[in-house]
Amino acid sequence: MAQSAGADAEVDVVVVGAGLSGLAAARTLQRHGLTVRVLEALDRVGGRVLSATVAGGHADLGGTFVGPDHDRIAALADEVGVHRRPTHEAGDNLLLRRGRVRRYRGTIPPVGTVALLDLARTRSAFARASRGIPLGRPWDAPGAAALDARTLGDWLAARRTTRATRDLMAVVTRTSWGCEPAEISLLHVLHHTAQAGGLDRMLDTAGGAQEQHVVEGAQEVAVRVAAALGAGAVELGAPVLRVDHGDDGVAVRTDAGVTRARRAVVAVPPAMRRRIRFVPALPAAHRRLAQRWSPGLLSKAYAVYDTPFWRDAGLSGMTVSDEGPVVVTFDVSPPDASRGVLLGFVGGDHARTWDELDPAGRRARALASLARLLGRRALDPLGYVDQRWGEEDWIGGGPTAAPGPGAVAWSATGLAEPVGPLHWAGSETAHRLMGFMDGAVSAGERAAHEVVRALAATERVERTTGIEPA
Ligand SMILES: Cc1cc2nc3c(=O)[nH]c(=O)nc-3n(C[C@H](O)[C@H](O)[C@H](O)COP(=O)(O)OP(=O)(O)OC[C@H]3O[C@@H](n4cnc5c(N)ncnc54)[C@H](O)[C@@H]3O)c2cc1C
Repeated sequence: MAQSAGADAEVDVVVVGAGLSGLAAARTLQRHGLTVRVLEALDRVGGRVLSATVAGGHADLGGTFVGPDHDRIAALADEVGVHRRPTHEAGDNLLLRRGRVRRYRGTIPPVGTVALLDLARTRSAFARASRGIPLGRPWDAPGAAALDARTLGDWLAARRTTRATRDLMAVVTRTSWGCEPAEISLLHVLHHTAQAGGLDRMLDTAGGAQEQHVVEGAQEVAVRVAAALGAGAVELGAPVLRVDHGDDGVAVRTDAGVTRARRAVVAVPPAMRRRIRFVPALPAAHRRLAQRWSPGLLSKAYAVYDTPFWRDAGLSGMTVSDEGPVVVTFDVSPPDASRGVLLGFVGGDHARTWDELDPAGRRARALASLARLLGRRALDPLGYVDQRWGEEDWIGGGPTAAPGPGAVAWSATGLAEPVGPLHWAGSETAHRLMGFMDGAVSAGERAAHEVVRALAATERVERTTGIEPA
């Protein structure tokens, strides 16, 4: 992998962004015999996947879990020899709501009969509403503009859902999109959930999106894919500032030089497209998308203990809380339990206030959250680490874009529609499992195939007519 000063270069395809999506695009392009150069703003690959080791325990600070149907990320991990293991779930879960802690088993929260019925009704109404959304084309859904004009919070209020349903949906929204229900387009939530196979599939551990996690750390997939691209293929510390595009290809500028190519794949989060000056300017839908698809705010706190002590009390380590700042935890300890590793999510409004604290303040508040549910032993970890995605300069937040009302129907056409020689990747552009690592990989592969087809068509015209197409 190159970290060079980055002189001017000429390749078939330039890829902007070395997250999983850009790297998957580059790998696919290379396999079709094309030369590629990946330009990455940060001094590391992986983007929203970032792994660390703390006190002998492993911490995935961004993307972590892989579901049973996440076949593109699973295939890529297999190809580069990175392993997955089941997420621990034996034992009772805990729910802290309105000041009371309750134990429960499985996926049915302990909220009383009326609230349970309301929760079931809300889930099936949600599933019905999602079913009509064409995957990858939410703007074509019946009544798309009306669905987009409302927030998830509006919809929950209009259905007169119980307080328990609203509390639990708020936790789901904070962890899935990093925002509050009143902030996110209903159309987007329905579309995203439909892409993930439904709410249950999205939220469950066994059989759901949290079923497995990566043994070596999710970032290792990106590191190995980048290494396999070969020396000089990935340039780090190279923010792309300007892209000139036209019939004769692209000129992609960083501070260090210009890379010329026949096509470009832009694989940065939607809001980060705004930091690149496209000349000529992008069409209106693409510009609106970059302005209005801002990222959510989801941070993470990891605490590592000498043992998963909560298991002695029959607990799974899976907790849900409406108090925060940590709103959901998982036990991601190694299989031999040589360490107890707790992953905590801090999302939405909780992240806004917690992210502002100094490191000691964040640690104290996060550990107090854990202790509130798991007892005082949680206050004394061997190691602690956290990650605030809102502070990442070239990423801006996470886990994914959280478009507000009105931001989908009129701008989502700008997500993946090519503009001349420009093709778009990134998890948000996926037609399946958008917002997940799997969506990042499939979107990169889709963009690469678009490029391969476009270049093949150009070559056919050149061969049959002997002239270059205008
Ligand atoms: C806290 C958190 C938890 C998550 N949990 C999960 C999970 O459990 N399971 C799951 O499947 N997914 C999860 N995700 C989502 C998943 O990590 C992302 O969907 C995926 O990694 C996005 O990959 P990407 O390549 O599309 O974008 P990114 O990873 O954001 O990569 C884009 C890259 O482009 C670079 N860039 C931006 N602008 C420029 C520029 N101008 N020039 C050059 N480079 C630029 C950025 O630095 C970045 O490296 C989580 C994310 C977060 C933040």
